[in-house]
Amino acid sequence: MPEGDTIYRTAKTLRAVLEGRELVRASSARTDLASRIAALAGRSIVSVESRGKNLLIHFDDETVLYTHMKMTGSWHVYRPGEVWRKPRRRACCVLETDAFVAVCFSAPMVELLTPWQVKAHPALRPLGPDLLAPEPDIDEILTRLEAADELSIGEGLMTQKLLAGIGNVYKSETLFLCRVDPFAVIASLDDSQREQLVRTARALMMANLDSGPRRTRFELSDRGRKQRHWVYGRRGRPCRRCGTRIQMRRQGLAGRSTYFCPRCQSVGRYSCADRHAFARMLRDPARHLRGKR
Ligand SMILES: [Zn+2]
Repeated sequence: MPEGDTIYRTAKTLRAVLEGRELVRASSARTDLASRIAALAGRSIVSVESRGKNLLIHFDDETVLYTHMKMTGSWHVYRPGEVWRKPRRRACCVLETDAFVAVCFSAPMVELLTPWQVKAHPALRPLGPDLLAPEPDIDEILTRLEAADELSIGEGLMTQKLLAGIGNVYKSETLFLCRVDPFAVIASLDDSQREQLVRTARALMMANLDSGPRRTRFELSDRGRKQRHWVYGRRGRPCRRCGTRIQMRRQGLAGRSTYFCPRCQSVGRYSCADRHAFARMLRDPARHLRGKR
């Protein structure tokens, strides 16, 4: 599943082969896109940009090619004549320069946009600060988390309009490393915990921007490649820290999998009702005390 770091890496690769080049040919196996994509031929690529999990390719006539990989999509780069690793019928977008062929396979979202449409796009407009920007606006992220404080932190970290880039793997790993209960509402965490989560997620993602498999454990030798994660994908296996069995629970409206150690992260110590009451108390301590009298 592509997360923000994957798209960042994809953008970096595409930038190296496309930026400043002219397209000699463009095509698409999708009939609804074919003629519009083909019309890109002859244009030059000005820049390739990642915003969270969104990829934007800017052309010299201000057209923007927008792709989002969701669960299925991927970009590949080939030399002309090289055999593709996926079937041509899945190529929703093929961009050819004289030296390289960039192919986007199976992306559910491929759109050609004007700059104005980019600004107004429902997936791009409400995006929170990009965690992988050179200097992400951490204060803005914390403000946005504060405004969504009835969400569980597991859902909050994945909500792209609060902060852009975190996917399922980094969510689980970050919460484990910070020893935070994924099901705790944001309001029940203090400012320093929230900031620590945001900075930890960024650090994990930044550490994965180069090549190699995604990992959140760094003390391992190459022989330990199968032990790249603390909790993600490890349901039923012992916690690497305390030995308790790792659990997985579906979370949020999208039912995304969250892996956690119930002991290290103190999961289940408080009921959902307790957490909401605690959150209300934090928001308005005076009123809480009045209610007690
Ligand atoms: Zn544990």
